[in-house]
Amino acid sequence: MISNRELFLQNTAQTSNSPRLVEVERAEGIYLYGPQGERYMDLVSGFNVSNIGHRHPKVLAAIQDQLNKYLHVTVYGEFVQAPQVLFATELLQVLPASFASVYFTNSGAEAVEGSMKIAKKFTGRQQILAAEQAYHGSTQGALSLIGNDAYRQAYAPLLPEIDFIRFNDSGSLEKITTETAAVIIETVQGEAGVRVPDKSFMQALRTKCDETGALLIFDEIQTGFGRTGKMFAFEHFDIEPDILMLAKGIGGGMPLGAFVARKDIMDVIKDNPMLGHITTFGGHPVSCAAARASLQVIQEEGLLDTVSSKATLFRELLQTPKVKEIRGLGLMMCLQLQTFDQVYAVSNYCASQGLMIDWYLHCETALRLAPPLTITAEEIEEACKIIRAGIEKFC
Ligand code: PLP
Repeated sequence: MISNRELFLQNTAQTSNSPRLVEVERAEGIYLYGPQGERYMDLVSGFNVSNIGHRHPKVLAAIQDQLNKYLHVTVYGEFVQAPQVLFATELLQVLPASFASVYFTNSGAEAVEGSMKIAKKFTGRQQILAAEQAYHGSTQGALSLIGNDAYRQAYAPLLPEIDFIRFNDSGSLEKITTETAAVIIETVQGEAGVRVPDKSFMQALRTKCDETGALLIFDEIQTGFGRTGKMFAFEHFDIEPDILMLAKGIGGGMPLGAFVARKDIMDVIKDNPMLGHITTFGGHPVSCAAARASLQVIQEEGLLDTVSSKATLFRELLQTPKVKEIRGLGLMMCLQLQTFDQVYAVSNYCASQGLMIDWYLHCETALRLAPPLTITAEEIEEACKIIRAGIEKFC
């Protein structure tokens, strides 16, 4: 009989020539299980999705409850659907008061697309600035913002009027002018290999946007929902964006994204022309029900309070002269090694020992660590033992 692995290679589109090919039969908490009983501790969290672990019972119960009521009923923005409106209300409660309107999408890239559209329409300007080494998604608009020429050139021409500032370089803020509609930036750059900006840079960025009337749009698609120890990473910098983009961890494992803004900014979407930004499945009721439960779990289990000490434990246990640098904020971390060959060998070794780690799109020399926030101290110790052994062996 043809195996699922062969069918995967034969019948599903391949995104690279070297997929991980780990077959997953089920997942629970911080573990993935394979068909032969293999067990992997998941230190990637589906790329910052499973912040509360896989299949949290409260998320499953919320999904089941919604399954018994309705699935998709109509396009976004027409009917009143309780999971959407209640989740929007609860989300606004954990955001600063200036945020007053939520638009739900299916994914992060769609949140980026919608944000760019409202920024252009609200300001009447066309230029959008992003940061070098940024990653904001793979749709053509989001791809236009990717701060890496190789990815842009392969699909050119992309959006016009896009330019780049240097991340964490206050000197390059001069590029923001009264022609700029928006600056779109990750609060902590993920795919660049976890780059945490200085508070002074983020504050200067806010000031420059205020001076020029450019909107400041934060991409918290990787950093949101507790990943860095705050509900949203912008809270570390004592500033607020004009538009906030969310996805990944928002849905407790279900597909969902959102962009959130002031009411006057969001309102440009509703007319002239009406229905100028619509989606069939955005804000799916089952995803929103799961998102409500997930947000509640983050709050009720006090997960935010545990992130910093868990991150400290990781750092203590992974300290070795063979690791050039440990970068990160909260449980969004990376271990900077010397070469991709080392990263590849260590991550393969870890997989052979039942531990899933990965690397970064624009930084293949760093190991990616982003465990579910629910990981325990004992599990961190077990994980670090394996990673340390891999590093000793291959670096
Ligand atoms: N923004 C950031 C920072 C991301 O890491 C990603 C995905 O990895 C996206 C946007 C795009 O999200 P999605 O894959 O849901 O379209």
